[in-house]
Amino acid sequence: MNMVDGDRGDKGMCNCEEDRTNKNGEVCQPTNFIQNIINEDFASNVYNGRVHTRFPPEPNGYLHIGHAKSICINFGMARWNGGLCNLRFDDTNPSKEDVEYVDSIKEDVRWLGFDWDDREYYASDYFEQLYQYAIKLIKLGKAYVCDLSAEEIREYRGTLTEPGKNSPYRDRPVEENLDLFQRMRSGEFPDGSRVLRAKIDMASPNLNMRDPVLYRIMRVTHHRTGDDWCIYPMYDYAHPLSDAIEGITHSICTLEFEDHRPLYDWIIQNVNPEVHPKQIEFARLNLTNTVMSKRKLRKVVEEGFVDGWDDPRMPTISGLRRRGYTPESIRDFCDRIGVAKNNSTVDIALLEYCIREDLKSKAPRVMAVLDPVKLIIDNYPEDRVEYLEAEYNPERPELGTRKLPFSKVLYIERGDFREVPPPKYFRLSPGKEVRLKNAYIIKCVDFVKDRETGEITEIHCTYDPDTKSGGPASGRKVKGTLHWVSAGHAVEAEVRLYGHLFNDEDPESEEGADFIDRLNPDSLERLVNSKIEPNFENTGAGNRYQFIRHGYFCVDIGDSKSDVLVFNRIVSLKDTWAKLKKGSGGKRQDAREP
Ligand code: ATP
Ligand code: MG
Repeated sequence: MNMVDGDRGDKGMCNCEEDRTNKNGEVCQPTNFIQNIINEDFASNVYNGRVHTRFPPEPNGYLHIGHAKSICINFGMARWNGGLCNLRFDDTNPSKEDVEYVDSIKEDVRWLGFDWDDREYYASDYFEQLYQYAIKLIKLGKAYVCDLSAEEIREYRGTLTEPGKNSPYRDRPVEENLDLFQRMRSGEFPDGSRVLRAKIDMASPNLNMRDPVLYRIMRVTHHRTGDDWCIYPMYDYAHPLSDAIEGITHSICTLEFEDHRPLYDWIIQNVNPEVHPKQIEFARLNLTNTVMSKRKLRKVVEEGFVDGWDDPRMPTISGLRRRGYTPESIRDFCDRIGVAKNNSTVDIALLEYCIREDLKSKAPRVMAVLDPVKLIIDNYPEDRVEYLEAEYNPERPELGTRKLPFSKVLYIERGDFREVPPPKYFRLSPGKEVRLKNAYIIKCVDFVKDRETGEITEIHCTYDPDTKSGGPASGRKVKGTLHWVSAGHAVEAEVRLYGHLFNDEDPESEEGADFIDRLNPDSLERLVNSKIEPNFENTGAGNRYQFIRHGYFCVDIGDSKSDVLVFNRIVSLKDTWAKLKKGSGGKRQDAREP
């Protein structure tokens, strides 16, 4: 496996396409702490050798790269151990959820390369069962109906340093609780007037154990169950039991649920379903220069700072897909960051490194002039066109070659010419020679300037016919090589260059400061006059290329039409990740401590 750091203590899970063999095989054994727990469970045979995980998104937003980590872990661990992984929608809070999100989540998980077969589940499918379990808890004297208001419940809860107080309704007789709970369900009481609470311990040092609310009254139409229910279970109650109903063995979640684990276990032990799943927490992914919470991402979308959830600047899976990231590069990224127990922030340069690595040998390398200026070859015949042979990717000869039309009038990058060159400038300037890639050596003999604006409008050159690339005299060396396109053959395109969504490495660092104020105002640059070589006039949305000297680009899947080609720059060619590592003597870890 290709690693960034030899010294990373923790290797990721297996999530590559091919089957890397199972328990008996020796290939690519994951060595993270979750696998250790699974190994122990195999040894003690608690789950009869089964591994069954789930990915449980709440359908209240689009998935982001942090979810990709969770998806890779859950599906990856199941795959590695010959088990199963369910897709379960945690749809217990209808006020924020929507089918639009359900559909996008399914598309994203599939696109990442994972399959849940027919195991697509919804917590809402279990509402009746969860209700019956609640009745069971009431009968056991483990749950009660409480009439305190939300405000009072908060007051009674106490603080980290002070124990809570028992609710005056805590000792209601079982019969009364059963009656009230049934009437809560049948809609007799107004929203918020009563709740069902677990009867645990108001003096517990863990606030989650101070008689947590299990059910609330809420008249909101649910996107699947409609108006069937006016009471909805709380996440902490529904989640462990949904796991149990599905026969989940290892319920892998993020660290913020660590303090909820005693409650998870309490519910499982008291309801006592057939399977007792085990909750295991890992550190969530944080990335520099972006935010990751769905609530914040929704704000960025809803306030119009970006063009939707799939804007190529968003850290969402759909945004990364539209930007041009491949599923392989995202899986590779998740593999490299590994699974650990301590929170950390990963440099976004590592994600960029992963897509560069993936496309290096896959993407055809072509010529595109993003900010063109005309170059005229004075000694080249007026109506002559030569078709020069050029390889698509020297690392992948099997990608073949294409023909590049060469003619008297070309475009080169405006930035590749200087009227007065600085020292060590190897590009074009008056009297200087450069090679045009795959073509000839040319010499600048003149240029034309717009009198008013001072802008260069034409560069005049002569070419040396004996210097054709691949030809007998091609060996003559010059220092600079420029890319170009033939003006009469070029395809018009719009090219979009992206900066980070936030300039700040940690946009959430200062308490109280609004993260919105830290959005990068220059995160999108549109170059609407770009000229691309004609060989991919009929290219399809989503196709990826390397534009020589500019980086990797993808045909936009939203705005690119047959008459206007739009390209997104996925990433430039400059590897800031390698530089970062070098700067720290190669000691830098993939994951950076906050
Ligand atoms: P957010 O905080 O972005 O709203 P969430 O945790 O509320 O995310 P869920 O839909 O509940 O989102 O998440 C589904 C699963 O993905 C959960 O198991 C959650 O722990 C995991 N997950 C969410 N964010 C991350 C992250 N940044 N890194 C790793 N896993 C994550
Ligand atoms: Mg959540």
